[in-house]
Amino acid sequence: MDSKKLQAYELIQERDLSGIKAKGTLLRHKKSGARIALIENDDDNKVFSIAFRTPPEDSTGLPHILEHSVLCGSKEFPAKDPFVELVKGSLNTFLNAMTYPDKTVYPIASCNDQDFQNLMHVYMDAVFYPNIYESDKTFRQEGWSYELEDPDGELKYNGVVYNEMKGAFSSPDGVLDRMILNSLFPDTSYSNESGGDPDAIPSLTYEDFLNFHRKYYHPSNSYIYLYGDMDMEEKLQWLDEKYLSRFEKAEIDSEIRLQKPFNEPVEWKRYYSIAANESEEMNTYLSYNKVIGTSLDEKLYLAFSILDYALLSAPGAPLKKALTDAGIGHDILGSYDNGIYQPTFSVIAKNAEESQKEEFVRVIESTLEKIVKEGIDPDALTAGINYHEFRYREADFGSYPKGLMYGLQMFDSWLYDEESPFLHIEALDTFAFLKEQISTSYYEDLIQKYLLDNTHASIVMICPKKGLTAEADQKLHQKLQDYKAGLSREEVEKLVQDTKDLRAYQEEPTPPEILEKIPVLKVSDISEDIAPIYNEEQKAGDVPCICHPIDTNGIGYLTLIFDLRTLSEKEIPYAGLLQAVLGIIDTEHYEYGKLFNEINRRTGGIETSLEMYTDVTKVKEKEFRPTFEIKTKAMYGQLPFALSMMEEILMRSVLTDEKRIKEILDMLKSRLQMKFLSAGHSSAVLRAMSYSSPLARFKDMTNGIEYYETVSRIADHFEEEKDRLMEMLQTISRKVFRKDRMIVSYTGEPESKEPVLQEIEKFSGCLHTEEVEESGFQLACAKKNEGFQTSSKVQYVAMAGNFIDAGAEYHGALQILKVIMGYEYLWQNIRVKGGAYGCMSSFNKLGEGYFVSYRDPHLKNTLEIYQGVTEYLRNFDVSDRDMTKFIIGTISNMDQPMTPATKGDRSMNLYMNHVTEEMIRKERLEVLRATQQDIRNLADIVEKVLQADQICVIGNEDKIEQEKEIFTEVKALF
Ligand SMILES: [Zn+2]
Repeated sequence: MDSKKLQAYELIQERDLSGIKAKGTLLRHKKSGARIALIENDDDNKVFSIAFRTPPEDSTGLPHILEHSVLCGSKEFPAKDPFVELVKGSLNTFLNAMTYPDKTVYPIASCNDQDFQNLMHVYMDAVFYPNIYESDKTFRQEGWSYELEDPDGELKYNGVVYNEMKGAFSSPDGVLDRMILNSLFPDTSYSNESGGDPDAIPSLTYEDFLNFHRKYYHPSNSYIYLYGDMDMEEKLQWLDEKYLSRFEKAEIDSEIRLQKPFNEPVEWKRYYSIAANESEEMNTYLSYNKVIGTSLDEKLYLAFSILDYALLSAPGAPLKKALTDAGIGHDILGSYDNGIYQPTFSVIAKNAEESQKEEFVRVIESTLEKIVKEGIDPDALTAGINYHEFRYREADFGSYPKGLMYGLQMFDSWLYDEESPFLHIEALDTFAFLKEQISTSYYEDLIQKYLLDNTHASIVMICPKKGLTAEADQKLHQKLQDYKAGLSREEVEKLVQDTKDLRAYQEEPTPPEILEKIPVLKVSDISEDIAPIYNEEQKAGDVPCICHPIDTNGIGYLTLIFDLRTLSEKEIPYAGLLQAVLGIIDTEHYEYGKLFNEINRRTGGIETSLEMYTDVTKVKEKEFRPTFEIKTKAMYGQLPFALSMMEEILMRSVLTDEKRIKEILDMLKSRLQMKFLSAGHSSAVLRAMSYSSPLARFKDMTNGIEYYETVSRIADHFEEEKDRLMEMLQTISRKVFRKDRMIVSYTGEPESKEPVLQEIEKFSGCLHTEEVEESGFQLACAKKNEGFQTSSKVQYVAMAGNFIDAGAEYHGALQILKVIMGYEYLWQNIRVKGGAYGCMSSFNKLGEGYFVSYRDPHLKNTLEIYQGVTEYLRNFDVSDRDMTKFIIGTISNMDQPMTPATKGDRSMNLYMNHVTEEMIRKERLEVLRATQQDIRNLADIVEKVLQADQICVIGNEDKIEQEKEIFTEVKALF
C-alpha cells in the first residue's frame, strides 16, 4: 500500500497470511489514532466491523445497552430503527452487534458491493453520531424504564436489555459462566457483568450512559476491520474523509488490566432457582477453574484447546471418566475461554451434590497428578491437534461468514496488543510446534504448571433453591410499590405520562423522508437466477448414491442415510436413543474413548443424526421419510478408513454395556433440560406442531419433550427398563442398518468419486441381511394445548397450525411474510413494546405455520398479538419502497452464501424432498414479483393457522398457573 491517496494512514505491518491464503495489513489513522486491520483475499463475502474496547465499570450493563441504542438512529440516518431497516431491506449476509466482557463489536457482511458500502456507512454513522443525546427515549426503551399505565396501576420495570438479561440470568449455565469469570478477576473489569445484571440495570442513569459513549466511542479507542475482495484503498479513503479525519487523537484509558494472581484459590457459592416440583438432589453445579497465562501466548492459546479435548471434552477423556466413575455429576464438561485477556480453563460437573465438592477437587487433582506421572495418551493429543487443525484448514463456520470469524478471533490478541492482530490467524506454525511436542514432556509440564501448581483459581458452586424466582419477583414487586408509595401525586402522574410518551414515540411511524435516507437497493439489482443444484444419481453396486460434484479443497463429505419407515410406533423413541448412544459406546475393537480419538486422528469426525424428508408433491398424504444418518468429512485418502470406522460403529457397537448406557442417559437428560431452558422456543414450536403433524410428532418423540419423557423414565427406572432398552437398540439396528434401506450422499471433486463408490459398494456388504418383521408406524396426533412449567423468569409462547389441512395453498409470498412479521408486526408488538427478546414465524411448503416468542415476559398478551396478524395483513398498506425492502430482505435470507459442504447438503435435501429446480424458480419469482395485494391475500392463510389454535408454552410456573384457562393441560416440565 503505497498510494498517495493513503497518506492519512501509517503503515505498521504487512504480513503474508499463508495459512488462510490472504494478505494482512495493519494501519494506524494518523489524525484520529484509529487502528485498522485489513485481510485481503478473493472472498466475495466481504466483512467490515468497527469495535471499541469497553471495559464495564459496574454491572449495570452499560456497554450492552449502548450497543443496542446506537443502532436506534444517528445524524445521517435519523430513523428510529435503522438497524431493523437494514435487516429488512439489505442483502447482508451478517448484520449484528455484540457486547463482550471487554469489547463491543459492530460487524456487517455482504457479497454485493453497493450493499456493503451502504451497511458500512450506516454503522459508522451509528457509532460516532448516534441520536442518544437528543432524548432519553432510546435509553429508556433499550435499557430500562419505569412503566405505569395509570396512577392506580402496578409500577414495573421494562426495557429490551432488562428483559433480555432477565432471560439470560434464568439459566443456571449462564449464571455459572458469569460467576466463573467474576470469581477469578475481582480487581479488573471482568468482575463486572457487561451484559447487565437485572438487579443492577435500574441503577444506571442516562447521564452515565452518555458519558460512557463520550469516553469510549472515539476513533482512538476503535478497531476497524475490512476483509475480502474489494478496493481497500477506496474504502480507506472514504473512512478517512467521511469520519476519521473529523476527530483528533485522544488519550483514552480503556486498557484491560491484568489480575494479580491469587495466593490461594477462592471459593464461591451461589443459588439458582428451580421449580416447586423439581428436586434439589443431584442438581448442583460444581466447577474447578484456573487462569491460564495470557491470550498473547499463541502456543498456550492453542495448547489448552488441545488439552481441553484430550483431558475433558472427548468422550472417555480421563478427567471426564474419573469424575463419572466416582459418581460426581451426570454431565462433565470442559470449558476453555480464550476470548479474554487471561484465558480460563474450567472443569464443570452438572447434576452433582454440594457435599461432593471436596471429592470433586480430589478426583481432578489426583487424576492430573497421575497423568503427569504416567504421561498423557499421545493418541488423544494427536486426535485433539488434528481435530482443531482440520477445522482451521476447512474454515467452515456454517452460516457465519469466514471473514467475520477471523475478525472476531483477531480480537483475542489485538485488543491486548495493538501490534498483534494476526497472532492467532496464522496458526500453521503453532500446529506444527504442538505436534512436535507430543513426544516431549511439554503437555505434562503445562498440566503441572497451569493446573496443579497454579493458585490463581476458583471453585464455584451453583446450588438449586426452590422458589427463588418467586421470592425475587416478590421482593422486586415490594420494592417498586414502596417506591411508588413514597412518590407525590405529581410524581406518579409524571410516571404515567412518561410511559404514555414512550409508547407514543414507539408507535409514531417514521416520516417517509427520514426513512428514505437509508439507502435501499432496487429489485432489479437482484438476479432471478437460483443457486445451482448439484445432484448426480449414481450407483455403488445396488446402493443409490447421490453425488454432488463441488470443489471442496480435497475434503470428501460422505453421509450414509438409512430409512426408518419400517419401525413400529413403540420403537421410535428408541431410535432417538440409538442415535444418542452410537459413537460414544464401546465397539468390538475399541473402547469408546479410543474409538473417538482414532476417528479424530485421521478424519474431521463422524456424527450421527435423525432427519426427516417429505415428498413435496404429496403434501396432503402427510407421508414422510424419517432417516438415521451417519456422516463424516475427511481428506479423500482417509475416506476408506472413515468408512471402516462407520462400519465399526453401526455393526459392532456393544449395545449391552449397561454402565455406559446409564451414563449416556443421565448426560442426555441433563443436556435436554439445558436445551429447554436456553432455547425453549424450538421445543415449544415442535410440540405445538406435533398436535397435528405426524412428522413433528416423530421429531418430538426423538428430540423433543416426548423424547425427554422417555429418557427420564428410563434413566430414573433403569433397573426395570434396561433389558427392554438393550433389546430395542439391537432390534432397531438389525431393522435399519441394511443395504436395502440405504442411500448415500457424497460431496467432493468429480475425480474423487469413483474410488468412493467402490468403497461404498464394499461397505454395503457388511450390513444386516437377515429377515426382520416390518411393522411400519402410523402416528396419531391430538391437540393438547399444554403449558410446561419451569423455574424460568420468561416464557416461550408458541402457536401453530396447518393451512393446507384447512384448504389453503402455499405461495412464495409467505417467505416475505416471515420478514414482515419478524421485523415489523411481531418486532414492534412483541419486542419493542412487549419487551421479549425475540419473535419468529415460519410457513413452509407442508402447510405448517407457526408464531413463537423468545424469552418473553408475557403470555396471554403475546397470543392476542398473534391473533391480530390477520387484521394487520388485511389492512397491509406500505410504500413501494417498504415493499421493495421486504422483498430484498427475503431474498437476502434465501441467498445466504454457502460453503462446499452446505451446497452438497442443500442439493441432497432438495433431492430427498422431491423439490425441483422449477419449484425453486417459481418461488423466487413469486417473491421478486410480489405485490401488496399478494401480502393482503396471505391473511386467509394465516387465519387458517391461527384457527387451528395449537398452543404450547414453556415458561415460568406462576405465570402459566395464572393463565391456566388457556391450556388443556398444565404440568411441570422436569
Ligand atoms: Zn442484547
